[in-house]
Amino acid sequence: MSDTSNHGTQQALERACPSCQVRTGQLLLQQRFAEIEGVSIHAGYDVVACAGCGACFADGVPDQAAFDRYYREASKYEGSASGALPAATLQRFREEVADIERYLPARSARILEVGCATGALLGMLKERGYAAVCGLDPSPACAAIAHERYGVPVTTGELSGGLGDAHAPAGGYDVIVMIAVMEHVRDLTATLHSVRRALSRSGLLYLEVPDAMRFEHGADAPFQEFSVEHINYFSAQSLSALLQRHGFVTLDSLQRDRSHTDAGTAPVVAGVFRAVDATGDFAQPDLATASAIRAYVSQSERREQPVRAFAAALAGARRPVLVWGCGTLTLRLLATSALADANIAGFVDANARYWGKTIRGIEILAPDAVRGRSEPILVSSVGQQAAIARDLRAGLGDSREVLVYPSV
Ligand SMILES: [Zn+2]
Repeated sequence: MSDTSNHGTQQALERACPSCQVRTGQLLLQQRFAEIEGVSIHAGYDVVACAGCGACFADGVPDQAAFDRYYREASKYEGSASGALPAATLQRFREEVADIERYLPARSARILEVGCATGALLGMLKERGYAAVCGLDPSPACAAIAHERYGVPVTTGELSGGLGDAHAPAGGYDVIVMIAVMEHVRDLTATLHSVRRALSRSGLLYLEVPDAMRFEHGADAPFQEFSVEHINYFSAQSLSALLQRHGFVTLDSLQRDRSHTDAGTAPVVAGVFRAVDATGDFAQPDLATASAIRAYVSQSERREQPVRAFAAALAGARRPVLVWGCGTLTLRLLATSALADANIAGFVDANARYWGKTIRGIEILAPDAVRGRSEPILVSSVGQQAAIARDLRAGLGDSREVLVYPSV
């Protein structure tokens, strides 16, 4: 008798497995989102486990060109206008620099960070004496800030564009760092080919991604690991298998809990790889990641219950409310809960790219626009809700009600 709780039926996939290219898999979750008009590039996806190798990823997402355009135009990674990064973000960079530094061959190492955002991590490496650092990022605004703030050269471009080969040093980079990038990439094969070409003969690759084996340990909102932008879900094992298929050997795997928000840490896995001349044998099929994801889905369903009940009560009350935050949690709740029926007078988000856009015909406002309004504000966040509510209550200068979700 088959064990249906652990081995559901296989389905044909639109997206080939990014690791072994098989086109069948098992459905783990249907994730759905409301769309931000003119910004969103999908309305959700299926989280699946590959029938061939066990790699877990999002099926039913648009092509790489759509993602490239999205990150170029809708990037939220420029940070605030003041340039100050949150304390938890700076702490996370310090933790990562300490881990990366253990593997750096020399102060003269030529280091490229792919997806460097505003260059804070490269700035820290530079301060520690690594002078030959540079970055690649799809956002021209990020590149300009990195240059201004840290004197770090950043090429604007995408991995799929070949890493801006014109700027690569002769003989290639000694080290390439990619933190919080691989989980965003639709076309991992083309990306890893570009990375392999840009590295020196026995160059090092440091990758850091959310750890799908430990999604349950995160402090963020339920289902947050299946975010609008995250479309690959790696374990140490599946990451190593993927890299072995592309001409790398694994030197080390590190499980870390990175500083994330005031509310807690984020579980990540870092893989350290060396380029080799041949593609090697790959590991046994990874069955553990799908099991860990099933457990995370069950935990998220439990944790989301009070949030869903809160949304139902809000919808029943019919009083107008402003919803603060247009991220994964809000978009998921609008697509899957009674929050869709609430009397939402407007959305608010710090990302300037969203201002004036709409969700289901309701406008997204800048934080400053809230001052002229009188509606209560719902902080639609779990990981950041305490900090946002505190800042709102301190900054509004009126006695307006600030609502938060029940603790999950
Ligand atoms: Zn596969």
